[in-house]
Amino acid sequence: MYLNVVKSFIRMRTLKGFLERAHVHPINMVKLQWLGHAAWLVEFSKTRMVIDPFLTNNPKAAMKESDLNNIDYVLVTHTHFDHVGDAYAISKRTGAKIVGMFELSQGGEKEGLGEDHFIGMNKGSQTRFGDVSIGLTAAVHSGNESGFVVTGDGKTIYHAGDTALFGDMKYIGELYKPDVALLPTGGFYTMGPKEAAVAAGLIKAKYTIPMHYGTFPGIDSDPEEFRKLAGNVTQVKILKPGDVFQIP
Ligand SMILES: [Zn+2]
Repeated sequence: MYLNVVKSFIRMRTLKGFLERAHVHPINMVKLQWLGHAAWLVEFSKTRMVIDPFLTNNPKAAMKESDLNNIDYVLVTHTHFDHVGDAYAISKRTGAKIVGMFELSQGGEKEGLGEDHFIGMNKGSQTRFGDVSIGLTAAVHSGNESGFVVTGDGKTIYHAGDTALFGDMKYIGELYKPDVALLPTGGFYTMGPKEAAVAAGLIKAKYTIPMHYGTFPGIDSDPEEFRKLAGNVTQVKILKPGDVFQIP
């Protein structure tokens, strides 16, 4: 009798340990694919999303709009063409919900999209959608600008959108502890390598990937310069459009 109680206690402890470990170290890897410019395909175990899907007329696009299937959410950081991009077309074709600032959800009628295609939010916190959490952050730019913090499968990604350097990036880092920060480094419209390196030091993500460079004239800064300046505060990963980064 006593032995059975001990045995079942050990089984329970083992199961509990297993579940905790499974939670802390999920088997499913989170995949980030750079589609060029500020566009990303993010694949969690059960949820697929694209961020700023500017593919049509993007000279650096890694795929066509029609190549994207089974998309649950389209996250849009602001209203500029190089970020809204193909968001409406993807939503129309796949039924994916467009997530962004509230005002972004108001233009849908002209695109023939009903209210049910939009999740109009605002900056300040994260909200759970199924197995992922999505939140809008501040950004310093124009066009109803925001950044995104997305968490799923135990990994957190901070997509800064288009932004200048701002001090509250420190709190985004402290609060959400991003595994990966995606930062614009192209300059002209956003931070350049020098400013983005200071941002990376505030955010302190394990990995930082530069984006929003090399697409158009004027934003052709060298990502290696960013690596040189930020390499001591974060692991800088430089991708080519189409490359996949699996968050370890
Ligand atoms: Zn932009």
